[in-house]
Amino acid sequence: MQFELDEEQREIRDTVRRFTEQEITPHAGEWDEQNHFPRELFAQLAELGLLGLSAPEEYGGSPLDRLSCALVYEEIAKGDMATAVGLGVHNMVTGMVMRFGNDEQRQRYLPALVQGKLFGAFSLSESGSGSDAASLQCRAQRQDDSYRIDGTKMWVSNGGEADLYLLMARLGEGRGPAGITCFLIEKGTPGFSFGKLERKMGLHASPTRELLFDNCVIPSGQRIGEEGKGFKLALASLDGGRVNVGAISVGVAQAAFDVASKYAREREQFGQPIGAFQGMQFLLADMAMKIEAARLLTYEAAWKMDKGQDAIIAASMAKCFASDMAMEVTTNAVQILGGAGYTREFPVERYMRDIKVAQIFEGTNQVQRMIIGRSILGPLSS
Ligand SMILES: Cc1cc2nc3c(=O)[nH]c(=O)nc-3n(C[C@H](O)[C@H](O)[C@H](O)COP(=O)(O)OP(=O)(O)OC[C@H]3O[C@@H](n4cnc5c(N)ncnc54)[C@H](O)[C@@H]3O)c2cc1C
Repeated sequence: MQFELDEEQREIRDTVRRFTEQEITPHAGEWDEQNHFPRELFAQLAELGLLGLSAPEEYGGSPLDRLSCALVYEEIAKGDMATAVGLGVHNMVTGMVMRFGNDEQRQRYLPALVQGKLFGAFSLSESGSGSDAASLQCRAQRQDDSYRIDGTKMWVSNGGEADLYLLMARLGEGRGPAGITCFLIEKGTPGFSFGKLERKMGLHASPTRELLFDNCVIPSGQRIGEEGKGFKLALASLDGGRVNVGAISVGVAQAAFDVASKYAREREQFGQPIGAFQGMQFLLADMAMKIEAARLLTYEAAWKMDKGQDAIIAASMAKCFASDMAMEVTTNAVQILGGAGYTREFPVERYMRDIKVAQIFEGTNQVQRMIIGRSILGPLSS
């Protein structure tokens, strides 16, 4: 076992950290207040190579190992979780085109995705199918050399801003995974429009939108993978997504901890810094311990993926533990700042509002516990 990042990983982390401190952190509060998705920032992220984390160099990508990717998401989330989520979704789409697309699809889409000329979104959830994602009802019907798509999708991060949508729709009847097929749909395709923009508790700089499909006809070349095999592709990609959510949670928690520990040193009550009180020290000590534990769990899950090991349970553990930890740490950071923490003078209230969703998306934490529990107990018969 070794617990040190190599030189390249440290360099990546430090570069992204500097970029975040200069270009993201100073603006994140304003983007949140104004519900502004910083599309302009993504041109800079493309220059840094961060839109091509899942694409090989032959397509202009700058592929990184999973551990380095976790470092990238952690650092960006310290500045703005919404940006980290937008980037994660984009790279997930790029990764799916790379892993499951054919040569024509790769050549058509990857260079543009890597350069930020196209921005990606991933659409699995519907109003009636969240945790039970395999019960989705959006329809795809084959028509000669094309597919007709009809239905409504929900909760699409980057929705409206993205140019390319990775869509899961059902071919044929039924409710389970069989039949679910994956398609690439471009913004502007006739019959494809946008519905409601969600008004959310947090993550205001990340648009979450409905997608509407009404007699939307796409060429059969827009299908990714085989007919009826889309759900498997989505699940394979969500494992990586869960490690990213673990890393994002660690980043947000670390940012909250940094603000809280500075405040505890500077704020005085009863004639001394509040950090001198054991009640504050114990809170900070618990926060530090839990952040470090979540960081190690997340890095380990990423490392397992890099080694080609089965990382499904490790990814679930990292996602679940780190997001629960970050909810607790951000809440305690608000507590340490007292009334000031409850105002927008400090970023901790935003961290707390933003991080809540990490316990919900990419599979709720109840679903993660279900996955972990089943892996412990195996099949049970009564
Ligand atoms: C801001 C945001 C962004 C999102 N982005 C995307 C995106 O880009 N693409 C996309 O496809 N989706 C996205 N989602 C959707 C997200 O993945 C779903 O919200 C999530 O999977 C939960 O589904 P649900 O909201 O329908 O909750 P439900 O599935 O209805 O769950 C409600 C409650 O029941 C619990 N529950 C459900 N089943 C079980 C069970 N078997 N055992 C125990 N408890 C259970 C859940 O844990 C939860 O607490 C996003 C959601 C949000 C809020």
